[in-house]
Amino acid sequence: CGIVGYTGFRDAYDIVISGLRRLEYRGYDSAGIVIDNKNNKLEVKKTKGKVDDLAEISEGLQGVAHVGMGHTRWATHGVPSDRNSHPHLSNNGKIALIHNGIIENYDTIKTMLIENGFEFHSETDTEVLVNLIQYFTDKSPELGFAGAVRASLNEVYGAYAITVMHEDFPGELIVARLGSPLAIGLGDKEFFIASDASPFVEFTKEAVYLEEGHMATISLENGVNIFTIKDNEKVEPAIQELRLNLEQ
Ligand code: GLU
Repeated sequence: CGIVGYTGFRDAYDIVISGLRRLEYRGYDSAGIVIDNKNNKLEVKKTKGKVDDLAEISEGLQGVAHVGMGHTRWATHGVPSDRNSHPHLSNNGKIALIHNGIIENYDTIKTMLIENGFEFHSETDTEVLVNLIQYFTDKSPELGFAGAVRASLNEVYGAYAITVMHEDFPGELIVARLGSPLAIGLGDKEFFIASDASPFVEFTKEAVYLEEGHMATISLENGVNIFTIKDNEKVEPAIQELRLNLEQ
C-alpha cells in the first residue's frame, strides 16, 4: 500500500520509518523495513500492526545504513501476518522486494518456481516476484540486476509499484510502476522513493513521477536512469517542482 525508499548520506532507517508514518493515512495492516547492514547483508524486520509496532522491533537498525526501504501493506493475497508482511526475500536471501498492487498470474509462476526447487514462506503474490528475479539472476547472470528485474516484470501481469534491493548490487534501488503510483525525490547527493511525495517533500522539491510501464535504477554512483519495462528504451526523466506545502 505504501512504499518508502532511500539512498544518500542520512540514516536510511530514520527516513524510512518517518516516511512510512507520513503514508499511514493510506491505511494498512502490516509494516516492514529492510536495510543493507554493516556486513553488506540485507536485514529485514516486519510485523503485523502499526508503524509504531515496527519501530519497536527494529530499533537495532537505526544508525546502521544509508540505503533502505520500507512498506505498509494492505493485504490482498494472504492474511495480515508477520510472514506475509513485506519486504519479501528471495530464497537465497540476496534480493528484497516491496510491492503495492496485485500480481494476477502469481499462481502459474509459483508452480514453475516450485518445479525449479524454490520454496515459499508466505501466501503472497509478492513473494513469487522476488523469487522470479532470483530465478533470472541464477539462470542468466549476464542480465545483471536491472535486466533480471525487467525480465521478471515482462512475465507478470497485474498492477504494481515495486522497489527492489540486491545484496550483490549495494547502493542500488530498482523501482517499477504499472498501475500504482511511485515518485522519486531528487536531492543533493541523495534520492528518495515514495508512493507520493509526502515522505520527502521536507528534503527536496524536485521529483520525478514514474510513468506507467517504466522502471528506474537509482544509485548515488549513476543517478536515476529510467527506461521502459517492455523494450528497455531509455526515457528522459521529466523533473517536476513540488508545490506541496506541509504547513498548509
Ligand atoms: N498483493 C500484495 C500483498 O497482498 C501487496 C498488497 C499491497 O498493495 O499492500 O501482499
